[in-house]
Amino acid sequence: MGEVLNVEKIFGENVFTLGKMKERLTRKVFNEVKHVMECGGELSLAAADVVAKAMKDWAVEKGATHYTHWFQPLTGITAEKHDSFVTHPDQEGKMLMEFSGKELIKGEPDASSFPSGGLRATFEARGYTAWDCTSPAFIKQGAIGSILCIPTAFCSYKGEALDKKTPLLRSMEAVSQQALRIVRLFGNTKATKVTASVGPEQEYFLVDRKKYLQRKDLIYTGRTLFGAPAPKGQEMEDHYFGVIRERIGGYMKDLNEELWKLGVTAKTQHNEVAPAQHELAPIYETANIAVDHNQLVMETMKRVAENHGMACLLHEKPFAGVNGSGKHDNWSLTTDNGVNMLDPGDTPNENIQFLLVLACIMKAVDTHADLLRQSASDVGNDHRLGANEAPPAIISMFLGEQLEDVVKQLVETGEATHSLHGGKLQTGVSTLPDLEKDATDRNRTSPFAFTGNKFEFRMVGSSDSIASPNTTLNAIVAEAFCEAADILEQADDFETAVHDLIKEYMTKHQRIVFNGDGYSEDWVEEAERRGLPNIKSMVEATATLTTDKAVRLFEKFAIFTKAELESREEILYETYAKSINIEALTMIDMATKQFIPAVVKYTTTLANSLSAVRSACEEADTSVQKELLIEVSARLAEAKAALGRLNDVTAQAAAQVCAKEKAFAYKDMVFPAMDALRKPIDQLEMLVDKEAWPVPSYGDLMFGV
Ligand code: ADP
Ligand code: MG
Repeated sequence: MGEVLNVEKIFGENVFTLGKMKERLTRKVFNEVKHVMECGGELSLAAADVVAKAMKDWAVEKGATHYTHWFQPLTGITAEKHDSFVTHPDQEGKMLMEFSGKELIKGEPDASSFPSGGLRATFEARGYTAWDCTSPAFIKQGAIGSILCIPTAFCSYKGEALDKKTPLLRSMEAVSQQALRIVRLFGNTKATKVTASVGPEQEYFLVDRKKYLQRKDLIYTGRTLFGAPAPKGQEMEDHYFGVIRERIGGYMKDLNEELWKLGVTAKTQHNEVAPAQHELAPIYETANIAVDHNQLVMETMKRVAENHGMACLLHEKPFAGVNGSGKHDNWSLTTDNGVNMLDPGDTPNENIQFLLVLACIMKAVDTHADLLRQSASDVGNDHRLGANEAPPAIISMFLGEQLEDVVKQLVETGEATHSLHGGKLQTGVSTLPDLEKDATDRNRTSPFAFTGNKFEFRMVGSSDSIASPNTTLNAIVAEAFCEAADILEQADDFETAVHDLIKEYMTKHQRIVFNGDGYSEDWVEEAERRGLPNIKSMVEATATLTTDKAVRLFEKFAIFTKAELESREEILYETYAKSINIEALTMIDMATKQFIPAVVKYTTTLANSLSAVRSACEEADTSVQKELLIEVSARLAEAKAALGRLNDVTAQAAAQVCAKEKAFAYKDMVFPAMDALRKPIDQLEMLVDKEAWPVPSYGDLMFGV
C-alpha cells in the first residue's frame, strides 16, 4: 500500500477558499468581499486589486502560470481561454508576474464563436465575462500545467445572458426574495436570505480506452450507434451495488482525490444497474456552486479515465438495451438561519409553513410541468424520457404515503388532524445515501420525488448541465411563493387565509401527485385523463420556453427576457439538428467504410468455402455455408438500401433553412432512418465471424474493463 491519504489535508487545497482569503487579505478588504458575496453589490476597484494580487500570489505559489475566466456558454460545457501572468519585462529584462483587479472582474472573450441564437450578429463580437465571487476560484492541474480558474458569468455587449450561470443566479435571487416573504409570514424575522441547495447524483460508464478508440460512434457522438446486444446484459441484477472491480476502484480512488482537492465533496460511489455503469454523488451545496462543481466532476471524470487507460461515457444512452444514465438533481430551500423549508418535521399535519410550501410546489410543478420537462431535455435524454425507460416523460410528483395522506385529509375535510407513522417516510437530515430506499420500485419511477427533506428531480440527463433544471425549479417556485404571499400578506385573518389557500392549491393541483408505477402503460393513459402533458422529445419540448405563460414567469422575476428565451429556443433547435446530423454522418461513415466492406469480404469467404468444399467433395453437406451466404447477403442488401435512404433524408433535413423545421426534420425523418440502418447491421453482427467484425462488440465494451 502506498502513502496514507490525508483527506482533510488535501480537501480544497486547489481552491481559493474564504479561509485562504481571510489569511491573505486585510480585514477591511475581506469584509468587503464577504459582503458582496452575501448581499450582492459591486466590489471597489481598489479592493478588487488587492484580491487579485492575493489570488495570483496564492496561485503562483501553487505553480500556476496562467489564469482563465471560466464560463458556461450555451454549448452546455465550460469554456476557458488562458492568459499567463507574464507582463512586459523592464529595461533590464526582468519580468514580474501580475494580475489586476480589472482582469479579475471583467474579461472580454470574443463572443462571436459561441452560440447566441441570434442575440448577437457576428460582427457584434463583444461579450463579457464577469467574476462570480459566490463560487470560489480554483486551480486546475493537468499536462498543461496549473491554471487559475475564475468562475464567471458570460453576457453580450447589451447585457443579455449568453450562458447558463447568469439566469441561474437571477433565479436564486428570485426564489430567495419570495421564500423570505413566506417565512416572514410565519414570524421568522431573522432570516435574510434563502438558499437553493442542490446535490446531483452523477451516473457514468467506463470503457477501455483502446476499445473506445476503435469505435467512431463513441468518439464522435458519445454513444454506440450500432451494436448487437451482448449475451449478458443487466438481467441478473448483479452489477447494481456489486463489488467494485480493482481497475474501477483505482479509478474511483484517483477521481475522489482530484475532486477533493478541488473542494468537491465526493461522497457516494457505487456500481449502477447496467454493466460498466457507475455513480458518484457529492454532498449538496448552494445551487450555483453545485452547478460549477458538477461541471468539474464531469470534466475530471473524463480526464482521470484517460490516465487510467479508460474512457468515461457521460452520454445518456451509450448502449441500447441496458439502462441509460441520468443525474438525480436533489433540491431544497434553506434559510440562512438554518431552517430547511422542505423539512416536514415529525408531524407534517401541524407544520403549516411546510404545508404551504408543499402546496406552492404542487402548484408550481403542475402549472409548469412543461417547462420542467423542457429543462431536463437534451439530445441524449430523448433515449431515456418517454422511451420506456426511467423516468417517464410525464411530470408527476411522488409524495410518499405520509404526505399523500395529509394532502388527502386536507383536500377532503379541509383539516389534517394526524400524520401516519411507521418509518415509511424518513424525516431528519441524513447525508448518508439511503440506498435501499432508492432501490424500491414505488419511488424509483417518479420523475419528481419527495425524499424526506428535499425533492429529487430525476429526469435530468447525465451529460447535461444542471443549471437549467435548477433555474426552472427556482423560477416556478418563486412564482408560486410570490402569488401566495401576495394573498396572505393582505389577509385580515392569517390563520384562516393560509388554511384556505393550502386547501385550494392542493385541491386544484392534486392531479400532479402520483405515487404509482410511472413506467406503466396505465399511467400514460391515466395522465392523459388528468390532462398532464406528455412531451415525448426535446424538439417538442423546446417551444414551451416561449409560451406566454413562460415569458410571463421568467420576465416577472427578471430571469430571462423574451429575447433571451427566443435565443435559447433557437439554439436548442440548432443543437438538436447538429447533433443528429453528426450521428447520421457517423453511421453513414461506419456503414460505408467499415461494416459493408467487412460483410462483403465475409460473403466472399463464405462463397469461397462453399465452392472449395463442393469441388473437394461433392457429397459434403454445404447447406450451412449456403444458407449463411443467402442470409448474410440479404441483410447486406437491406443495409445498403437503408444506407441510401439515410443519405437521402439527411441531405433533405440539412437543406432546411428554419431552425425549428430543421430540428423536426431530423427527428421525424433522419432519426427513424438511422434506426432502419442499425437493424440489419446489428443482425449481421450476430451472423458474421467475430474476427471479421471491424469494431469491438457490446460484450467487449461492457465487460472488457
Ligand atoms: P438517495 O436516496 O437518492 O440515495 P442521498 O441521501 O444519497 O439520497 O442523497 C442524494 C443527494 O442528495 C446527495 O447529493 C445529498 O447530499 C443530497 N441531499 C441530501 N439532503 C439534501 C437537501 N436537503 N437538499 C439538497 N440535496 C440534498
Ligand atoms: Mg437518488
